[in-house]
Amino acid sequence: MLSSVYSRVSSQVPIDSGTITFRGITKRFGSVVAVDGINLEVRAGEFLSLLGPSGSGKTTLLMMMAGFETPTSGSITVGGRDITHVAPNQRAIGMVFQHYALFPHMTVAQNVAFPLRMRGVLKKEIGPRVERALALVRLQHYDARMPSQLSGGQQQRVAVARALVVEPPVLLMDEPLGALDKKLREEMQIEIKKLHERLGITIICVTHDQEEALTMSDRIALMDKGKIKQIGSPIALYRAPNSGFVADFIGKMNFLNGYVQAIEGARLYVLVAGHILGIPRSQLAPGTAFVTGQPILIAARPESIAITETSAGSISGEIETSVFLGSQRKLIVRTDDGTQLQILVPFDSRAYNEPGRGRIHFTIDATAIRLFPREV
Ligand code: ATP
Repeated sequence: MLSSVYSRVSSQVPIDSGTITFRGITKRFGSVVAVDGINLEVRAGEFLSLLGPSGSGKTTLLMMMAGFETPTSGSITVGGRDITHVAPNQRAIGMVFQHYALFPHMTVAQNVAFPLRMRGVLKKEIGPRVERALALVRLQHYDARMPSQLSGGQQQRVAVARALVVEPPVLLMDEPLGALDKKLREEMQIEIKKLHERLGITIICVTHDQEEALTMSDRIALMDKGKIKQIGSPIALYRAPNSGFVADFIGKMNFLNGYVQAIEGARLYVLVAGHILGIPRSQLAPGTAFVTGQPILIAARPESIAITETSAGSISGEIETSVFLGSQRKLIVRTDDGTQLQILVPFDSRAYNEPGRGRIHFTIDATAIRLFPREV
């Protein structure tokens, strides 16, 4: 059934590989707890990114899914079938790594055919399947080339074709674009996203690059110290981070220190840089409770800060640097209480570059703020 879906690559029909369920998964290496009691469900056909800083346990979790590591405790099921102790070659999983690891002495076609030959697929079937896999990654005319005759991006596409040629319902990728330069990486992110949309297979992708995760994923699981700190759609993580850690990791975020001044009905009034902001309760991270006088962290995206003409009702600061970003200009501003902020203004805001325009006033969109408790 899978072959028919792969041969009709323009089809939107998703492959039902079953939900992948990680239940209480822990992995210890001696005294190091690499993965710490993770519960996670990956829906069939979903693109899930495991995102997080170095050492947060992303690769270890992926390796347990692949079968190259055994959990210290917990279980992994696919469509209800327990695969925790199933050998890697029995799992019907494709893998793509950061270093494409193509065989240098084999042509592109031979590289892609390799997993089929290993599985004893009939010779007459191999040619058409290799052709289809290369067509998926738009390299059908490169079959006779050697890997050394390809660019980094093309080599990585061959690696993707080699993983897909066995028609796995699940594809695991570990930093697949890590070795590519920025422009190529961005192109490949779109390629992989489109490929996923066409094939409808389940993809779990490890990355430490938040832009990559935002671009490609249906959902992102943001990890830290072996745990999932938050899981949700890219928009949910961007707009409604549940902690300062998530707010800081996803996108650009400004943090300002403040205090809860008053709590009235559906609003919280906070004192920030000598200015009072009324913030709807809906902007508070779930599970957080605030009391009057409490120190808080106000998280505001650069795009939710707007420059005003006057200081009345605004926060004031000095422009320290102005950075040209193409369509926008990024202003690095230091408020009177010493906080450094990033503010985005349209490129044509030439005034901010002129001498004597060092001081500016701005307001923060209270509906786009997140509040977190602050340790003092
Ligand atoms: P990176 O982005 O740097 O690859 P990661 O989030 O993928 O990091 P892991 O590679 O899963 O993190 O490592 C998680 C923790 O487990 C780290 O502290 C790491 O040093 C440790 N670890 C991983 N593999 C082993 C191993 N084979 N033996 C001992 N410790 C290990």
